[in-house]
Amino acid sequence: MSFFSTIMAQNYEFSDNVIIDPNLIPELKSGSECYNPNGPDIIIRVNIHFMLKDDGTGNFSETSDDHITNTGYNGYKYAEDLIRRANAKCSYNVDMNHQPIPPAPVIAKKFKFILSGVYFHRNTSEFDQSSSSCGFSNYAYNEGEVINVFLGKKPSYSSAGGCTYLFDDKIGFHGHRELYERSLSEGEWLNDLASNGVVHEIGHDFGLLHPIRHDCGACCDTIPVPNECASGYCDDGCDDTPTWQELVARGNPSPCDWNTQYSSNNLMDYNASSEALSPCQIYKFHNTACNSKKSYQSCYYKTVSTNTKKRRTT
Ligand SMILES: [Zn+2]
Repeated sequence: MSFFSTIMAQNYEFSDNVIIDPNLIPELKSGSECYNPNGPDIIIRVNIHFMLKDDGTGNFSETSDDHITNTGYNGYKYAEDLIRRANAKCSYNVDMNHQPIPPAPVIAKKFKFILSGVYFHRNTSEFDQSSSSCGFSNYAYNEGEVINVFLGKKPSYSSAGGCTYLFDDKIGFHGHRELYERSLSEGEWLNDLASNGVVHEIGHDFGLLHPIRHDCGACCDTIPVPNECASGYCDDGCDDTPTWQELVARGNPSPCDWNTQYSSNNLMDYNASSEALSPCQIYKFHNTACNSKKSYQSCYYKTVSTNTKKRRTT
């Protein structure tokens, strides 16, 4: 990012919530048996759903960006751009700002996404629901084989957020359209923030947790409130991503800062760059992709998949 965009990113907020059934924790496998550094990237199918009001306003439509501009930009193009941005972010990896001791090597992520479908839903009550963090709808298609991303509307700037269930295949995300609107005057990097957020949520769907945040997104320096915030997992289960406590003990005064010299650049934390993944995190993603979510890969069709719904908590 440019200096200007780095400054602006300090005014950006991200929040999300990953909902975890404690019974799933043993499924958080590590190990590199499914990761092939010399093979092709694995490709995961994604559906993009736009939630609109009954009258077709409030979000990107088939033909427009809800009249923000007259450039002919529309939901299909936005969905394609979102996946393109996500794949650009997955095409490289960098050193983590928060390193274990000794430092972790940088390995290729080796996963990408392909747009499987774009859908538009005109339903005001679903649209209103989509303004909340967990507002995904019942419009999912090809569950068990495709990640369904529901893009809703959030009526405020400078924030975006998402929600998903660990190992599920539905993502609720809002703020994309406000970031798009800001991007027209402030720069394309704001659209990158939306795609970063969607990839972050897909990371949860493939078993990744926040390295230094609770499930609900609160920094691990806070004490979780039962039934309100975290279920207590303030460690992502990867030895190569230091915990908040380890970082503070080493002299990092504020590991959860958004965009400072102390902040994380890990895709599964909240930060402007969202670039880095540790080897353990990458191995976990690939383990899920070659086991319980094998049917989501573009090279597999109609595979008998595990029923992710039965794992969902309420
Ligand atoms: Zn998250």
